[in-house]
Amino acid sequence: MPTADRLSGGSSPADQATVRRLNLALLMRSLADGGPRPRARLADDTGLNKATVSSLVAELIERGLVIEGNVDRGGLGRPGRTVELDPGGVRFLGVELQVDYIAGLVLDLTGRVIARRRLGRSMSELGPARALGVVADVCRDLLADCESRVDQVQSLHVAVPGLIDQEAGVLSFAPNLHWRDVDIVHTLRGRLGWTDARITVDNDANMGAVAHFAVGELAGTANLLYLAGAVGVGGGMIVDGRIARGAAGFAGEVGHMPIGPADRLCGCGRHGCWETVVGLASLLDAVADADDPVHDERIDLGARLERIRRRADRGDQRVAAALTEHGRWLGVGVSMLANVLNPEAIVLGGHYPVLRGYLEGPVVAALRAGSLAGPNVVCRLEFSTLGFEAASLGAGHAGIEEVIADPTLARLGAAG
Ligand SMILES: [Zn+2]
Repeated sequence: MPTADRLSGGSSPADQATVRRLNLALLMRSLADGGPRPRARLADDTGLNKATVSSLVAELIERGLVIEGNVDRGGLGRPGRTVELDPGGVRFLGVELQVDYIAGLVLDLTGRVIARRRLGRSMSELGPARALGVVADVCRDLLADCESRVDQVQSLHVAVPGLIDQEAGVLSFAPNLHWRDVDIVHTLRGRLGWTDARITVDNDANMGAVAHFAVGELAGTANLLYLAGAVGVGGGMIVDGRIARGAAGFAGEVGHMPIGPADRLCGCGRHGCWETVVGLASLLDAVADADDPVHDERIDLGARLERIRRRADRGDQRVAAALTEHGRWLGVGVSMLANVLNPEAIVLGGHYPVLRGYLEGPVVAALRAGSLAGPNVVCRLEFSTLGFEAASLGAGHAGIEEVIADPTLARLGAAG
């Protein structure tokens, strides 16, 4: 492990490369958090000397990460051109492959969404090979939508609802897709032929948590639990500012806590899992018979959920009772998780926000009643405002974070 002394004063080429990489990251972080500034102010703000900053900025320009902006005349001394993150350079794709849809978007380095797509389709029916073919098509369409070139693509992060072996790039098990051991990364690399782009796969709830950590009202919340409401219910945890993955990377499978009714069969093959009462499928079954259009996967999920909400608003007894029960079960698990993890905030995403008016009461009541620490230290309960693209947004931001943490991942000569 390098000591502080070696980091600042090491003399071997490896030490120097490490120091330079850390300083590049420091500069990128400063630009991402603090916005455009001239080199002299960047030197003041980072504690690096001006010559070093100039050399680092030159490298970041070469890597296609920063550009020179306007002349800044605000400060003391000689006016200098500002330096800022380059919104026209590298691109970050985030795509989520869900049980019943694919969503994807493209971000520039500043985090702005420059293209987005969503496609309703039953992925379990398609099977892994064809579904990944659709993912590749969506990626190509997204690039065309924002008129970006393949050589601008820095990374593609794919979010999938299941257990992920990140190092191997393999989806180990996705209970609700009924997929096992799908080599996501190598398959997509072959389909896309994007030899220079980094392609990775991660759990969808982890990526949803990253999205809320990166943008919006809860941005920067160091201890945050995100629950992704879908056919399955995954949990993504940010603990002390980092995704908590567990020993094998499989943490967060809250949907399979055996706290539901013992007679309910889960997609994982067990009985009584939490998601058999708080998952989307259980909700749809409870509110309407099988031939009702709310079950029709060809209709956009958002529109189907709106239809359910309107029925409840009109006083439909079956729907109202089902939503109350859904909220009650949601509260049971959420209060347990609050006691175990003690997050600052729990964010409910996926199908939950559309039905907030019916779910919030029972969940908040359960949180208050179940908090061992007492009602005054109950964590915040928030409903996501990121819609059905939280995981893809988080996947895109995961790519940005990688490059900020290690700017040498960006390819030399990517500028222009
Ligand atoms: Zn289960």
